[in-house]
Amino acid sequence: MKQKIIVTGGCGYIGSHTVVELITHNFEVVILDDLSNSNIKTLDRIAKITGIRPIFEQLDLKNSEQTKAVFQKHKDTAAVVHFAAYKAVAESVQNPVMYYKNNFFSLLNTLEAQLEQGINNFIFSSSATVYGEPKKLPITEENQVQRPFSPYGNTKKIAEEILEDMVKAHQDFSTISLRYFNPIGAHLSGNLGELPNGIPNNLMPYITQTAAGIRKELQVFGNDYDTKDGTAIRDYIHVVDLADAHVKTVKRLLNKKQEKSLEIFNLGTGNGYTVLEVIQSFEKITKKPLNYKIVSRRAGDVPALYASTELAKEKLNWETQLNIDDMVASSWKWEENLKNEKN
Ligand code: NAD
Ligand code: UDP
Repeated sequence: MKQKIIVTGGCGYIGSHTVVELITHNFEVVILDDLSNSNIKTLDRIAKITGIRPIFEQLDLKNSEQTKAVFQKHKDTAAVVHFAAYKAVAESVQNPVMYYKNNFFSLLNTLEAQLEQGINNFIFSSSATVYGEPKKLPITEENQVQRPFSPYGNTKKIAEEILEDMVKAHQDFSTISLRYFNPIGAHLSGNLGELPNGIPNNLMPYITQTAAGIRKELQVFGNDYDTKDGTAIRDYIHVVDLADAHVKTVKRLLNKKQEKSLEIFNLGTGNGYTVLEVIQSFEKITKKPLNYKIVSRRAGDVPALYASTELAKEKLNWETQLNIDDMVASSWKWEENLKNEKN
């Protein structure tokens, strides 16, 4: 019998890639999503890659009663992977209530509903944003957590505190929080990738949309940082590697390999790239010059963030397999496929 995994936000960018990897590793997947930032066609894309269409329940996790009903229906679930959240940093600064409401109500309703059914394994999507501007690089899980710049980031910090309280209160409850660095890239088939709504905030979709002629030019936010070329450094991680880490995390929970009832792991590659290095990789891979200009720094950006990956390597037995060129090439393949679909 396949073990059943509930994936909230499973039609989204990271969720859909994780669903593919879970199905490939022989899990039965139930996606819960309200499609507020994703598309129903994602189910076809997952089916095309894996040959299996995941079970889909369309619901808003802010609705407690509906969430409880869905968990009752799928009470034979072994673990929950919780991706559902809003994630646009600037939007959260403009509309904190919308962010606190969605990210906390979704989290709390999910936790309540799963506990009611005795489902005790929970994986949470956290972010490197909880480290604020780190004093030490690379960032280990021991680095001090700081009040993030944005309400979005703060939802991640507070969610981890909620999980600390959960494990104290509920003896059988086991949880792992995964702090992602900068996920980019797309499924290597080119059949699944990020579908940003409107104008992208993040670097990679902005680059591919500029190269595809959807945007006029990329703005590079600041070249006066104390880095090798003056632009900011991030730890970009391929979404397929990230998805694979979730499968390893699910197995750690199900095989009862946890050493503490709340564990936290960084998910990055350990390598930092500047914005200009990402652009250079893009130009090399696509053999296309990218139209960009340097503008002033973006509020809230830190100069450099990259992970120490030692803990995830040791405890999850996980290492990234794909490099920056793979990330760029797959993002471009996906962008081109989207363009062909529209024509
Ligand atoms: P995404 O927006 O592509 O996916 C989130 C999914 O959740 C969407 O399909 C959306 O429709 C769904 N959703 C949102 N609110 C919901 C609700 N109330 N009820 C049901 N479904 C709801 O985002 P993503 O990039 O795949 O991110 C997944 C998770 O990882 C999020 O929690 C995000 O904060 C976190 N994260 C993302 C990044 C990143 O750069 N993408 C970095 C760090 C952490
Ligand atoms: N960035 C940029 N132009 C853009 C978007 C992003 O120069 O249009 C830079 C941003 O300043 C940061 C890096 O690219 O240094 C990654 O930004 P992104 O928003 O993708 O992720 P973040 O690290 O902010 O979560």
